[in-house]
Amino acid sequence: MTTIGFIGLGNMGNPMAANLVKAGHTVHGFDLVPENLKTARDNGVVVMANGVAAAKDAEIVITMLPAGKHVLSVYEDIAPKAAKGTLFIDSSTIDVDSARKAHAIAARHGLLSIDAPVSGGTGGAAAGTLTFMAGGSKEAFVKAEPVLKPMAGRIVHCGDAGAGQAAKICNNLILGVSMIGVSEAFVLAEKLGLSHQALFDVASTSSGQCWSLTTYCPVPGPVPTSPANRDYQPGFAAALMLKDLKLAQEAAQQSGAVTPLGAEAAQLYALFNAQGHGGADFSGIIKFLRGDSA
Ligand code: NAD
Repeated sequence: MTTIGFIGLGNMGNPMAANLVKAGHTVHGFDLVPENLKTARDNGVVVMANGVAAAKDAEIVITMLPAGKHVLSVYEDIAPKAAKGTLFIDSSTIDVDSARKAHAIAARHGLLSIDAPVSGGTGGAAAGTLTFMAGGSKEAFVKAEPVLKPMAGRIVHCGDAGAGQAAKICNNLILGVSMIGVSEAFVLAEKLGLSHQALFDVASTSSGQCWSLTTYCPVPGPVPTSPANRDYQPGFAAALMLKDLKLAQEAAQQSGAVTPLGAEAAQLYALFNAQGHGGADFSGIIKFLRGDSA
């Protein structure tokens, strides 16, 4: 079994670390928030005094942090102190540019690294069914795979440094746009006197079929497990959708990709968030489109 450093024990990091402990690994964890450290301790994580201590004796270090600036600052701190050949796995969702810089810091200190953001949310983190999208060398990926397994439903090697983050933001660009499209169709159906169930029965088996409709339906009823049935409790919070759509726009601007629907989706989620709904599930955007969210 492996000694794993885990830095960033928040909503995602804590349940992920708990699954590593359950799989028999020794996890040395650190977070800035004392309450999160208490949860980690209760889950069997060995709580360390700081990030450097969490990384020091670890063969593998996993970070699960809010944004690129946090990842780069933690990497600058811990990389010089980690043993040569240690594998750094960053599972945070961050911009592609910062992800590549993080790989460069690791390489400068003789470390292996992959970017491995996830989809599946806090439910997937608790259940150990996250999808990991990995970017980095084959050698690093092969070393990472067995450690990711207790946290994962699926692990995909997407390519070189930054490819995991690229896959994550492209996927969530599809998700944000498709959720708005499905929501608009339900709002139009309401105006036309078409029932939610009738639209669902047709579109879910027709060319309008997609995950935002069949798994995450934004109106209550047709898919009983979707957040619409529990007053849009997340799930996947609108604030995180906005974060990912902004990352996609940033990447589109830097790379010269034309993404007009992505830009519009980012704008709509920014307005929804500005109305105070950042903590609601992102499928709650349907209320904004109906004009009843303010
Ligand atoms: P979170 O805010 O709950 O957790 C982040 C943790 O990092 C916090 O506990 C914070 O105290 C800690 N932290 C910040 N700087 C630190 C430092 N220097 N040293 C140690 N700890 C530090 O966020 P989360 O929901 O767990 O998300 C983590 C990442 O996963 C984000 O990048 C997010 O976009 C991504 N993500 C989240 C979800 C989700 O549903 N929550 C889904 C997929 C991806």
